[in-house]
Amino acid sequence: AKRAGGSGFAIFEPSMEQDSRAQLELQHDLRGAIERGELVLYYQPKIDGRSGQITGVEALVRWQHSSKGVISPAVFIPIAERFGLIGALGQWVIDEACRQLRVWLDQGLRMRVSINMSAHQLRQENLVQRIRRSLHAHTVDPALLTIEIIESVLMEDEAVRAFAGLAQLGVSLSIDDFGIGYCNFALLRKLPVTQLKVDRSLFTDIQHSSDALAVVDAIVKMAHALGLRVVAEGVETDAQRDMLLALRCDELQGYLFAKPMSAERLTLWAMGDEG
Ligand code: C2E
Ligand code: CA
Ligand code: CA
Ligand code: CA
Repeated sequence: AKRAGGSGFAIFEPSMEQDSRAQLELQHDLRGAIERGELVLYYQPKIDGRSGQITGVEALVRWQHSSKGVISPAVFIPIAERFGLIGALGQWVIDEACRQLRVWLDQGLRMRVSINMSAHQLRQENLVQRIRRSLHAHTVDPALLTIEIIESVLMEDEAVRAFAGLAQLGVSLSIDDFGIGYCNFALLRKLPVTQLKVDRSLFTDIQHSSDALAVVDAIVKMAHALGLRVVAEGVETDAQRDMLLALRCDELQGYLFAKPMSAERLTLWAMGDEG
């Protein structure tokens, strides 16, 4: 099946459970995708709630398949994990994000870059060492890199152990999709996390729902009490933006401001935004 993707192009989305042959085919293609240069990072701006300025970007990987068109990470990341390819893919994402950040810094764009990591990736033995090497190779300050990890990772001791090493390295940690799984506030307090990303499902109907408002209000107050910054992600309407700013969310991200875009377009967008 194909549908219009977030950036206007067709996205290939086989229904994986029904079609394991398609899955096998994709994992076969994915093995060579990095070497063939088919993976690309798109970047979506994060906007400071007070100044309206860009604070940084989230890197989101895409696969430009030679015959199937653009494939969503929601489709191929699970395949990469299942077939042992996530290590190489994750390494490519880290290297590419650091390389691009160095380009932006050299152009005078001082930004932070966030990358996404799954529980699988956090369990990799030499993860901290690999990130350090990549930062060093591109002379990027670790403080400019944020790693986004979904909430459910907090359930895994092994993954949580990786947090300490990453924090020691000086990168920031962000809890992605916060509020839709279980949230362990006690753990949050102990972990070296600096940011929560509030999932859009929590505020989609915020202008009509006092419950939604109460939930986001509570999350922001709790986060601020713990010294954490709050990013609202998936902001699509002016009404949502106004409510989220009134509730003191620190940063906003979503189609209302910009969709994920190529590095080249992001550069123009950010320069225009700053100028
Ligand atoms: P995520 O980290 O929660 O990323 C947010 C997703 O929401 C992205 O989808 C983004 O394009 C989309 N989005 C942004 N603004 C809006 C909005 O206003 N409205 C709506 N409806 N959606 C919005 P995308 O790029 O398809 O990525 C899907 C997921 O794939 C990500 O969810 C993340 O979990 C995973 N992913 C992406 N890149 C990587 C990567 O390099 N490594 C790993 N491990 N996972 C990745
Ligand atoms: Ca994310
Ligand atoms: Ca998210
Ligand atoms: Ca998500």
